[in-house]
Amino acid sequence: MVHKLRLFFLSILLVCNAVGTTAKAENPPEMFLSVLWAQASAEWNMASQQAFHLATLNLEKALHDPSWTAALEQQENYHSLPPAVIVDVDETLLDNSPLAARLILAEKEYDPQLWLEWVKESSAAPMPGAVSFIRCAKEKDVAVFYVTNRKVKNETVRNIKNVIDPDVKPEQVLCKKERPEWGSDKTSRRAFLAEKFRILLLIGDDYNDFAFLGKSSPEERIGKAVKQKKYWGKKWILISNPVHGSWKTALYGHDYSLTGEEKLKRKYQLLRTNDQTKSDH
Ligand SMILES: [Mg+2]
Repeated sequence: MVHKLRLFFLSILLVCNAVGTTAKAENPPEMFLSVLWAQASAEWNMASQQAFHLATLNLEKALHDPSWTAALEQQENYHSLPPAVIVDVDETLLDNSPLAARLILAEKEYDPQLWLEWVKESSAAPMPGAVSFIRCAKEKDVAVFYVTNRKVKNETVRNIKNVIDPDVKPEQVLCKKERPEWGSDKTSRRAFLAEKFRILLLIGDDYNDFAFLGKSSPEERIGKAVKQKKYWGKKWILISNPVHGSWKTALYGHDYSLTGEEKLKRKYQLLRTNDQTKSDH
């Protein structure tokens, strides 16, 4: 009898779970598959390791070539300056996908307060390959600077110290608005560092970690990427981030005032089918 009751309650539980899963599966949030790619694919792990491996190889070349600089902000007479690399933090060094997973499961949108709470946890894990790259740079006496649009400095330094570099100093982390002129555009912080250091590499997951794009459209961004192709994979190392970034806001003209439906409509308009090419033939 007890066994039959157990089976009865178990079957009710399974039905309830299935109903919940089905409801979410019918309309999963937009970032659902992106977050799964970051959390459950070998390919995401490989892409990150590959990027940091490339960075390690190029660091050696850059060190031995005094004319080499990765920063567009680098001024003349930089050849004898001490070497440094500039690395972004979120989705470059630290993996924040658990916060995105929490939002999906709680059926919530991005919320600045939840982001702040997550940052204060200082529990983000390192991106694959990041720790060994930073160790390699330190062994070669290359200064490492972390340029981030986070505003919370102490917890960011603590997270980096816990999982990336136990010796990191607060002055290596340049947060947004730490100085009045340091806005979201990272150009002024790159220029500040380029005055004192020869910048060997820039590493990031967003175009703005390399050069400021402002409110460029997807087409303009791709055009610029093609024009600047000599940098990619050599002086500029990109980490794949399908979850968020300026690539995503560019899809709807960076217009945060639009409704979800209007943003979705803009995104659909960007899909290419090549139908025109077919009808030409
Ligand atoms: Mg980032």
